[in-house]
Amino acid sequence: MAASFETDICIVGAGPCGLFAVFEAGLLNLRCHLIDALPMAGGQLSEIYPKKPIYDIPGFPSILASELVDNLLKQIEPFKPEFTLGETAQSLEKLEDGRFLVTTNFNTKITAHTIAIAGGLGCFEPRKPDIHRLESYENHGVDYIIKDPEKYRNKRIVISGGGDSALDWAIFLSDIASEISLVHRRMEFRGAPESVQKVIRLNELGKLKLYLEAEVKSLEGNPDLEKLIIDTNNNQKTIELDYFIPLFGLTPKLGPIADWGLNLDKNAIEVNTLDYQTNVDGIFAIGDINNYPGKLKLILCGFHEATLMVQSAYKIINKGKKPSFKYTTVTGIQPIKDANHGK
Ligand SMILES: Cc1cc2nc3c(=O)[nH]c(=O)nc-3n(C[C@H](O)[C@H](O)[C@H](O)COP(=O)(O)OP(=O)(O)OC[C@H]3O[C@@H](n4cnc5c(N)ncnc54)[C@H](O)[C@@H]3O)c2cc1C
Repeated sequence: MAASFETDICIVGAGPCGLFAVFEAGLLNLRCHLIDALPMAGGQLSEIYPKKPIYDIPGFPSILASELVDNLLKQIEPFKPEFTLGETAQSLEKLEDGRFLVTTNFNTKITAHTIAIAGGLGCFEPRKPDIHRLESYENHGVDYIIKDPEKYRNKRIVISGGGDSALDWAIFLSDIASEISLVHRRMEFRGAPESVQKVIRLNELGKLKLYLEAEVKSLEGNPDLEKLIIDTNNNQKTIELDYFIPLFGLTPKLGPIADWGLNLDKNAIEVNTLDYQTNVDGIFAIGDINNYPGKLKLILCGFHEATLMVQSAYKIINKGKKPSFKYTTVTGIQPIKDANHGK
């Protein structure tokens, strides 16, 4: 049965701005539920540049993007946010009682008093290789994102791609899958040299089958995927398998948010600069996804927007009551007691 949750603020996007919004909301004793299409938190920092140092986070002369995400996750722990990861917020509707209902592509339902869209550049969507009937095998043996590696335990897996993601997952799954093959259309990989060496070593040890200068040409099975055909040096080879995982990177697209009735300016959501509310009362947009005069797409700016946004969210949730302004040096951190409203 699909899961359902109730919360104060449903945050769409678990990038740095969505994560920091949980902290600022927690200071006001507001509960948050985050949804992200990616299987992990951190947005662009986790997906695009985890190992790059960032130099413009106040108080940190330099911090790796992945460390900033770890710190943000640590900082929000007392406020016990709930996460729905690896799912896309698909639809948004207003309920009769004034709350909102967000439904994901896996039919998870989150009912919330307010919505904070922190969707960055949009949903990261997989780049799909051009293989006939590929899409008809989605949920029938073709996956583009690895959400839970346990799904592949003792299964026969074929991964295709030549970047870090394809190499790293091939290495990781070689301990879990019963058989794993990596298909890459060139002789050279784009990924880290250490990972390439590991893959070559695993191939030599017989723990992974490597097909270079090879391409997946077609898929067979009805309705579930059973075999695929690869072209390698003009020879065709059939591989029997349970899962085919093409890993050719992800590109951001605004996605379903574009149909939520919000005023858009190109690919961004228009907001006011008082509290970053959109044209719909109770729906806010913070971070890279919003636009207003003078907007800068910086983490620092998104943190500021999150801070002001929760003040107005508090008033909506508490029927007009204003939050009292207090320094954390005075109040400390008061953990949220009853955060889990999942059903
Ligand atoms: C290479 C690079 C270097 C950078 N360096 C710096 C720097 O030095 N300093 C700096 O301040 N900024 C830097 N930036 C910009 C910074 O990364 C962004 O400003 C920041 O990530 C914005 O955070 P965000 O939380 O708004 O969105 P994002 O980080 O983009 O996260 C948004 C999340 O929302 C999710 N999402 C979107 N739509 C949906 C949906 N419908 N359902 C579910 N999930 C959804 C996405 O999957 C994503 O995970 C850099 C960016 C890049 C690409």
